[in-house]
Amino acid sequence: MNDKKNPCEPETIACSVCLKEIPVSEARSEEATDYVMYYCSLDCYDKWKNQSQESNP
Ligand SMILES: [Zn+2]
Repeated sequence: MNDKKNPCEPETIACSVCLKEIPVSEARSEEATDYVMYYCSLDCYDKWKNQSQESNP
């Protein structure tokens, strides 16, 4: 028996804010400066946005 991840599972990615794993198909993405960040909900998007703005007073 093999308990490793089933290769048939949908691909998941970690939310860039809360690190929750979400299916890639449901992830919202935003192109940041040099990379694409993924977030699970608009809540996390707002947090990320606020953080990046606060880091530049
Ligand atoms: Zn999240």
